[in-house]
Amino acid sequence: MQTNLAAFIRDTSEGREADAILRKCVHCGFCTATCPTYQINFDELDGPRGRIYLIKEVLEGKRATATTRLHLDRCLTCRSCETTCPSGVQYGRLADIGRAVVERQVPRSATERATRYALSKGLRSKALFGAALLFGRAARGVLPTSLARKVPRAQPAGAWPPPRHERRVIVVLGCVQPTIAPSIDAAFARVVDRIGISAVGMSGSGCCGALPYHLNEQQEGLDLVRRNVDAWWPAIEQGAEAIVTTSSGCGVMVKDYGHLLADDPAYKAKAARVAELARDPVEVIGGEWKRIAARVAMDRGSQRIAFHPPCTLQHGMKLKGRVEEILRAIGHEVVPIADPHLCCGSAGTYSILQPELAEELKRRKLASMQAERPAVIVSANIGCQTHLATGTSRPVRHWIEMLDEKMLN
Ligand code: SF4
Ligand code: SF4
Repeated sequence: MQTNLAAFIRDTSEGREADAILRKCVHCGFCTATCPTYQINFDELDGPRGRIYLIKEVLEGKRATATTRLHLDRCLTCRSCETTCPSGVQYGRLADIGRAVVERQVPRSATERATRYALSKGLRSKALFGAALLFGRAARGVLPTSLARKVPRAQPAGAWPPPRHERRVIVVLGCVQPTIAPSIDAAFARVVDRIGISAVGMSGSGCCGALPYHLNEQQEGLDLVRRNVDAWWPAIEQGAEAIVTTSSGCGVMVKDYGHLLADDPAYKAKAARVAELARDPVEVIGGEWKRIAARVAMDRGSQRIAFHPPCTLQHGMKLKGRVEEILRAIGHEVVPIADPHLCCGSAGTYSILQPELAEELKRRKLASMQAERPAVIVSANIGCQTHLATGTSRPVRHWIEMLDEKMLN
């Protein structure tokens, strides 16, 4: 499409990037059919093509309104539209750029700002989030069922093997996952320890930056990115061969570090190296598959599984189908589900900020996942897991835990 960006953004790096993305869009509308919010609201402006048009108008100088912001807020940034688009339009990057401009032009109410501030700070604070979780678990018995279901059950981590191997990978510890489900990173550490790779967490690191970045606190998000680069750098210099994130929502962010700090001369090269080393566990396991397969007890605890591929895994990192292959290869039955490309409604803080759309997406996702009566629901992202768990009595687990349980010590 033709563009004529306004002077305020035309000659900035964001302006040039947005212009290149907009020019690729040919308005075909193929993406609309696979957009979860369009499928619920049937409003062009709640689909990718309409949102692209809204962002284009704003970047061309038309003042944003509360309606512009509402339609962008309703977007999950699931990037299903990117997978569908035949022209390679990078909608996610365009949405980041457009949202930052709209946020400046249409300030939020004091209540909205307070809610977003509390989410950004509270979820990232291990002390605050940990205390809230402890309280919720203690009070579960007196909470209404709908609220009690939102409190994740405690999961013991199990042993994290000491760093005894020469081969090492860094594990991104993140913010909420170690508090809600410490068993996930520990399971990954046990799996790779068995084949001669030590997984180490680095002190000084924390939230990958996605939480504030996607709440439009983009500078704060980038500060967290720099902090992580600094924390991981000594281990990278000592030969760590990968930076692994067991939560795909954070993994897709770490893979983007090079791009995010491309304009920062002090961090550009280091951030690019971090992005180059960033891996989802499925890539690590896939690369070591022969040695892992040799240690799998095929006759141990096979189950009927419905796998939910997080959007960040299938659309963000383009790793569609890989986890399902591993689950089948270790002897589980993976049942087919309808519309696996659609978001479950979790999407970071989306389930809290857009509860009605998020609930409807969850209801639809669980209906499709439970149609074949699986014993377990499995995913690859803590956000999806906790969101789905609020709507089902079936256990909801991370796939790396299923692999850990199948391996011989
Ligand atoms: S990112 Fe997802 S919700 Fe947003 S426009 Fe694209 S498909 Fe729709
Ligand atoms: S599918 Fe791609 S080119 Fe077509 S309208 Fe959507 S973003 Fe534009």
